[in-house]
Amino acid sequence: MNETTPTPRLRFAPSPTGYLHVGGARTALFNWLYAKRFGGQFLLRIEDTDKARSTEDSTRAIFEGLRWLGLLWDEEVVYQGANADRNRADSYRMLENGSAYRCFCTPQELAERRQAAEAAGDSFKYDRRCDRLDPAELSRRVAAGMPFTLRFRVPEGTTSWHDLVHENITFPNKDIEDFIILRTDGTPIYNMAVVSDDITMAITLVMRGDDHISNTPKQIMLYEALGAKVPQFAHLPMIHGLDGKKLSKRHGASAVGDYQHLGILPGAMLNFLALLGWAPGNDIEVMSMGQMIDLFDPAGLQKKAAIFDTKKLEWMNGQHLAIISSHELAARITPMLVVAGLTTADAMARNGAWLDSLLDLLKVRARTLDDIVVQARPYLLSELEYDVDAMGKQWKDRPATAAILRAVRDALSSLPTWGPDLMEEALRTVAEELGLGGKAGKIFQPLRVALTGLGVSPGIFDVLSILGRERSLARIDIALQMLATSNS
Ligand code: GLU
Repeated sequence: MNETTPTPRLRFAPSPTGYLHVGGARTALFNWLYAKRFGGQFLLRIEDTDKARSTEDSTRAIFEGLRWLGLLWDEEVVYQGANADRNRADSYRMLENGSAYRCFCTPQELAERRQAAEAAGDSFKYDRRCDRLDPAELSRRVAAGMPFTLRFRVPEGTTSWHDLVHENITFPNKDIEDFIILRTDGTPIYNMAVVSDDITMAITLVMRGDDHISNTPKQIMLYEALGAKVPQFAHLPMIHGLDGKKLSKRHGASAVGDYQHLGILPGAMLNFLALLGWAPGNDIEVMSMGQMIDLFDPAGLQKKAAIFDTKKLEWMNGQHLAIISSHELAARITPMLVVAGLTTADAMARNGAWLDSLLDLLKVRARTLDDIVVQARPYLLSELEYDVDAMGKQWKDRPATAAILRAVRDALSSLPTWGPDLMEEALRTVAEELGLGGKAGKIFQPLRVALTGLGVSPGIFDVLSILGRERSLARIDIALQMLATSNS
């Protein structure tokens, strides 16, 4: 980027007619990444002109979704509906400079002509009859207050642009009819509002879904007619489900908020979304937000539809659990542990360092935050839940198990400090003394069941450390009682 290149300004322009869809979030992310990568601004415009379908709840859901993902906008939110006066003034500028004309044809007349054309096997295109009205008749109609729309007069030739994703795209103008820009009630048509707003917001790059490609030639003509600089365009590929069809509710959760509630981390969601339509190259997949910004390059944007695979999202979440800080993880998981009835927020606040260590142990074995909550149970519950299969397998020979656990208890209880090196040395000595030689597993497995109730857990010294001396010894005592009283 050289000094004459303006600072990039991009926008995400959702219509608030539903929740924040993953496709919308992906579009927002690419706009945001481009702005961050090239030192620009990322703006948010709520396209609330369709009053019947736009709701405040949807607008709120869009804000919440973007905030959860950390895709924050740089300036005040623009509400398109508030710009109708300016949009109208821009439309009239085109009437004045000769790029647009008044059309008095009623919707009913247009519908009849369309039907007649279709019945004759032709495709309908507005025949410009109002552009040919003689000036006296035009003045008469205007003076009589006859309702009219404003139509844009499509020039001859072709309209082309260099798309950052699809490269050169050209539309023959003859395929585009003189389209309406202002309705009879003075409200702007979508393409008019978007162009008028994008000019005012000084947008330099319009990045959006490729379902908008057919709008782009019309929008370029409007920029030119208004004497404004045409921005760059990038049309992102659609997102499909595993069946190759456009992603929809049929494919399961498609709202960003759903994934938040399924225990997905925002960083993982962003990373997953980034790979829908962008290949960073060098087989790179797992990226932090900072890495994504550094690596983002529009040259890596893909043309072909991207596939939304929830299994991959879970995998990605596992990767991110392993790399995020324990501190961040603790902030996210504490409310979930409280809801699961495993602890209180106060207790976790008092034991922050302990929780961080616990999460360090658990996160490497988890795919979602919900997995961590399940795995955290043995360390938070005061009474253990014993897995019957693990007991049956690891405590099979009860007298022998009791002998092992008794020896382990004695060795551990006499340790001067509760550290992993000393524990390991003590347990190896026990193994030698019991004639188990190098088979430390014969000690670790029954001990694991005694300490956690489960057959799988983090490493045994980690488990002993996290439980602490008192709780570890108490759990071994309980196991010894269980082994002594049961006779099976
Ligand atoms: N409001 C349009 C949509 O939600 C976006 C238009 C644009 O980005 O130009 O599809």
